Amino acid sequence: MMRGIAALRQQPTTDAQLAVMRSTVRDAAVDRPGIYRMLSSEGEVVYVGKSKRVRSRLLSYFRCVYPEDKGARILRSAEKIEWEYTPSEFAALLQELRLIKRFRPRYNVAMMRDARHYSFIKLTKGAAPKLLVVRGASSDEGTYYGPFVGAQRVGEALRELNDVLMLRDCRTDLKMFFSDQTELFQLSPRTPGCIRHEISKCLGPCVGGCSAGQYDDRVGLAKAFLEGSDDGPINTLRDEMERLSAGLEFERAAVYRDKLERLEALRAQFGRLRFAVENLSFVYTVPGHEGEDKVYLIRRGVVRAEVAKPRSSKDRRTMKQLVEDIFSPDGSPNAQVPTHEIDELLLLSSWFRRFPKEMKRTKQVS
Ligand code: SF4
Repeated sequence: MMRGIAALRQQPTTDAQLAVMRSTVRDAAVDRPGIYRMLSSEGEVVYVGKSKRVRSRLLSYFRCVYPEDKGARILRSAEKIEWEYTPSEFAALLQELRLIKRFRPRYNVAMMRDARHYSFIKLTKGAAPKLLVVRGASSDEGTYYGPFVGAQRVGEALRELNDVLMLRDCRTDLKMFFSDQTELFQLSPRTPGCIRHEISKCLGPCVGGCSAGQYDDRVGLAKAFLEGSDDGPINTLRDEMERLSAGLEFERAAVYRDKLERLEALRAQFGRLRFAVENLSFVYTVPGHEGEDKVYLIRRGVVRAEVAKPRSSKDRRTMKQLVEDIFSPDGSPNAQVPTHEIDELLLLSSWFRRFPKEMKRTKQVS
């Protein structure tokens, strides 16, 4: 990979210093796809970017007129610019994501927030797991379902799901006291203090209202529902609505009808999601800027392997084996997204949404 560096020994805070930096970029950089890093005098990577035309992109920073412009602020924080060329804009995009994840540059935080109109449902780990809506992957462990658009609607539907299954929605670190924790329970007698337990909307794992196994069974139901393989919660609501209607309790039946609609909307969202994610599974061939064509094996929205385009029959045989390994059936698809795959899934779905013609370069694997 070809590299270039434009550096200043002093803090690049003056116009004269910036002029030196600009002239280095102008002389050394070329217009082709690549990524660049802005580094502070302490060596901190303050910004990572990518461009189809590295030289033009870098020079555009020096045209920022106002000091409050983001480009100007990045430049004034940096003492050095490094860049690398990539075979294509797509390769640059992937490399940019990897560098952002590695260095967490302070000026890229805002960019990551842009992608946060997506939300996920997270199932926490530990005793009495709970479901919550999150904007992206966090550092602690958990199981993620998504992505979804419309965090508020997902949040409302999730509340219904919690109520129907009587799962907790309180503080993650709240101490649990299951009914089968006899020793603990005797040592520490507890009285119900939460309204959700009192009105039968939570099994009450905090006050010995259920055993660990009973709570786990409900979590299993929630997972099955979120993975799209169980309609139990919906059937429970429908039965209750019909029972109230038959008893002429129309007002209460209407409350259940609304809950039912929200849950059904959530189920429909999951249906669309499974379709979308599974659809992002194919072999994607990307022409290189100077003939260095690459083949990306993408499964469920994540690049599982990238190789140079095969040129010989031996290369083609190796590639065929790789495709078989990566696309081998491994059970039915579900809506779970491993934490470390969330950013790349968002990136790839956004790439193919922005450039739908790129789908013509893809080949489904049957
Ligand atoms: S009853 Fe206990 S576990 Fe359930 S939501 Fe309330 S505080 Fe949390």
